[in-house]
Amino acid sequence: MFVGVDLGGTKIAYAVIDYRQGRVLARYVAATNSADGPDAVLVRMSSDIRQVVADAGLTLADIRGIGCGVPGVYDDATGHTLFLPNLVGTWHQVPVGPTLTAALGIPIWLINDARAFVLAEAAYGAGRGQQNVVGFTIGTGIGGGVVINQRLYMGLDGTAGEFGHQTLALDGPQCGCGNYGCLEAFASGTAMVTQAQVLINAGQAPDLAQRIVHGAHLTPSLMASCSDIAVQQVLAQAYAYLGAGVANVVSLFSPHVVVLGGSVAQLGEPMCAAVRQVVQQRCRATPIERIAIVTAALGGDAGVLGAAVWAAHRSGTEDVHALT
Ligand SMILES: [Zn+2]
Repeated sequence: MFVGVDLGGTKIAYAVIDYRQGRVLARYVAATNSADGPDAVLVRMSSDIRQVVADAGLTLADIRGIGCGVPGVYDDATGHTLFLPNLVGTWHQVPVGPTLTAALGIPIWLINDARAFVLAEAAYGAGRGQQNVVGFTIGTGIGGGVVINQRLYMGLDGTAGEFGHQTLALDGPQCGCGNYGCLEAFASGTAMVTQAQVLINAGQAPDLAQRIVHGAHLTPSLMASCSDIAVQQVLAQAYAYLGAGVANVVSLFSPHVVVLGGSVAQLGEPMCAAVRQVVQQRCRATPIERIAIVTAALGGDAGVLGAAVWAAHRSGTEDVHALT
């Protein structure tokens, strides 16, 4: 058994995972409250891991490893976080791995949260049983990951798969990373909502404006459900950039499956269909009829499942598909 942890900016999810079946035996979610500081958060994490293991009817001796997804950059060699922009204090050089290992007596491995998502979808979800899988997480930003032969391709320091920061326009808008024209600056949920707000302010999105007056939260899903033509054009444009970004990744890796996840993937089949069409137009040298472009299958459990798979791989446990 493995424990998967998904450390997020607002909440921390924990689960005990039966790795062979990809089954969640117990799960627990708590607020991160990162303003309390890393020391307090790590004390709570240690106690919550003990609790979720007990909830599964197990003891710490039954747990072979812990995987912990983090929303940012970490040092794989030391288990320290380096930069988690969504947490207060950004968690520079916080010894997450060593602290939890010392408290629990169980080895722990960190993993970027988008990479964990792709690993989970490859092992148990939309890419199950397929050799090579790439994935995009489209939400506030755009992340991604590459799984080759059912193993995560890490690149230097685990940074392979930063698909949101591929340049799609030389003179495009500035991205949060500092570069100009990144996919993320065109097609993240944040980018879509920002453009919709401009339309609302200019009086070009009366239906959307009306819905917000009545208390609706401005999201890409709300945009998709409104009748404003200008808003639909914003979405179509974002899908076109997303499609171009996916096409670039397809050209590079020619994977069996492309999984689209994250909150924006709730836009579902209309978004997926638009992306497929763009990939079809732009990838002329790849057998795209054999590449599935699909939305994620695992829902909210992907983060904890992927973290557990990572711990299983790092601890030397056999390939999941050799076991199932
Ligand atoms: Zn960028």
